[in-house]
Amino acid sequence: MVLPGVSFADANASLDDADFVILGIPFDRTASFRSGARFAPNVIREASYNFETFLFEHEVDLVDIPIHDAGNLEEFDTVDEMVSSAEMEIRGLSSEGRFPVILGGEHSVTIPAVRSLQDIGVISIDAHLDFRDEYLGERNSHACVTRRITDHVGMENVFVLGVRSMSREEFEDERPDFIDALTIREEGMDGAVRRALGTLDKKRIYLTIDIDGIDPAFAPGTGTPEPFGISDMDAKRCINILAPRLVGFDVVEVCPPYDHGNTAALAARLVREVIATVWKARQKMVRC
Ligand code: MN
Ligand code: MN
Repeated sequence: MVLPGVSFADANASLDDADFVILGIPFDRTASFRSGARFAPNVIREASYNFETFLFEHEVDLVDIPIHDAGNLEEFDTVDEMVSSAEMEIRGLSSEGRFPVILGGEHSVTIPAVRSLQDIGVISIDAHLDFRDEYLGERNSHACVTRRITDHVGMENVFVLGVRSMSREEFEDERPDFIDALTIREEGMDGAVRRALGTLDKKRIYLTIDIDGIDPAFAPGTGTPEPFGISDMDAKRCINILAPRLVGFDVVEVCPPYDHGNTAALAARLVREVIATVWKARQKMVRC
């Protein structure tokens, strides 16, 4: 069940008219260190009113884009209930080619989002590989997201950027390709994204940003902060390069009880960046 609430800034379109549909999933039941990500969808929406509607560097005004905010999914008791209900809801909302923008919630919300789409590759920005097969008895735990995604799209269609933490088992297991945060710092995000795109089989890309992939200096309000991360600018750059190929996006693991507002602002700004650049890329394709 989707519960309507305060809308993301400039999300003024009806569902029928929308090219982009925003859905909050306030779920954080498998959080392993500190919880509170369930508050993030509404806090990110509040932060979205901080910004100009016009993004001058792209010459795009968000008020010209048909964006619909569907509200939040109800709160679920178990992660398995969340995953199965959210998959159906996202499938319905993103029918007729609408671009889903999911506001987490913890990283497990990416599992239903990815399952609702076909013929895609997935690029994840994350400090963690999230490749455990199960964690504390849960296969859909936020610590197992990358694994569950590979179940759906295949190992060769997942690539993780910004990693700097994994267990020995995850490291030694057969696992998806990744580029660590230090390499991105030394060699640049452009090359990292091109390498990811060169590795993936699929042209259509779903991007998931676990906000802890970005350094805690820029994004301190998160459940599992991990030093030595990528920069906020690197995340923006990644979005800008991927925009023409994106078919869905989420930002997850923002944890408002540990935030001073800057993490929520960054998440809101990343959402606006995705919508503006995907929109612009699609306008160009229509014109060609
Ligand atoms: Mn994660
Ligand atoms: Mn993480």
